[in-house]
Amino acid sequence: MSVLIALLSRLTAVCMLTGIAWASPALAAGEPLVVYSARKYQLVEQLFQEYGRGRGIEVKSVTDDGAPLIQRLTAEGAMSPADVFISVDAGDLWRATEAGLLSPVKSPILERAIPAHLRDPAGHWFGLAVRARTIAYSTERVKPSELSTYAALGDARWKGRLCLRSGKAVYNQSLVAMMIGDNGVETTERIIRSWIANLAAEPFTNDTLLLKAIAAGQCDVGIVNTYYLGRLQHEQAGFPVQIFWADQKGRGTHVNISGGGVTAHAKNRAEAIHFLEWLASPEIQQRFAAVNFEFPANAGVEPLPEVKAWGKFEPNLVNVGTIGKTQSAAVMLIDRAGWR
Ligand code: FE
Repeated sequence: MSVLIALLSRLTAVCMLTGIAWASPALAAGEPLVVYSARKYQLVEQLFQEYGRGRGIEVKSVTDDGAPLIQRLTAEGAMSPADVFISVDAGDLWRATEAGLLSPVKSPILERAIPAHLRDPAGHWFGLAVRARTIAYSTERVKPSELSTYAALGDARWKGRLCLRSGKAVYNQSLVAMMIGDNGVETTERIIRSWIANLAAEPFTNDTLLLKAIAAGQCDVGIVNTYYLGRLQHEQAGFPVQIFWADQKGRGTHVNISGGGVTAHAKNRAEAIHFLEWLASPEIQQRFAAVNFEFPANAGVEPLPEVKAWGKFEPNLVNVGTIGKTQSAAVMLIDRAGWR
């Protein structure tokens, strides 16, 4: 584990495997297991190769963002070489399911390992790592007792003190989608407009810039995926920003998943299911989540100490697939509210 942690800071610089990342030559005769993955970390690729070595098979992975991978699966149809699709947004998994690109899996192992709100009830996809999107605050200018809910970031006290990432980011679209599912469009739109009225700066292009803006005093609070803070805290001890778990007295903090499913035209269906079961197993769960300071989806597995230090929280237990159903309404709402 210490070796893994040592690798993490370097990893952030080189984590993007671009384009096609064909793996080492075949280790055994037979069809390779082909994984289309939007989880683009070198350590994840190493895990895939470790699986292949253990099974005596070749694992080939193709990495790209979720949307282009879905387009590719759609275009390839029955000819697709892909056996497994891995995404970093539940909305993508929902869309892939709607498009008929994934096939349902009945696996008692996966059903035991992964809590019900983090997987498709019909088995088209299973969460493998959990990312929470919650409130980040300046430890120098904000007391946690001033914070409570996502909605309260629209209160007058945060006028000119709030930073947000762009409304075009899928993470914010998924957050808003979840809010629409919980509270309806009207209430959600009122909340979003109140946030926009409180902005201290133009929305940021990523969560890391946002966290650095809080640290630099440009704003005092924001909404981020917690792993971005994990990376910064790992690089810089005493980074003056902390996590607040939103909506703990209400529906719980918004979570999303990295997750995977077996493709509709998988040539190696049995191997693909076995691969997902392996990823859901305790030892691999810990490593799969630790790569990016996330929470293991398998509830019996501990996250990294740095992640644990943020404290326990209640997640919103609405099935993460709900995000998919309301994501297009969320995109329109974000547009109407002027969240650029
Ligand atoms: Fe991210």
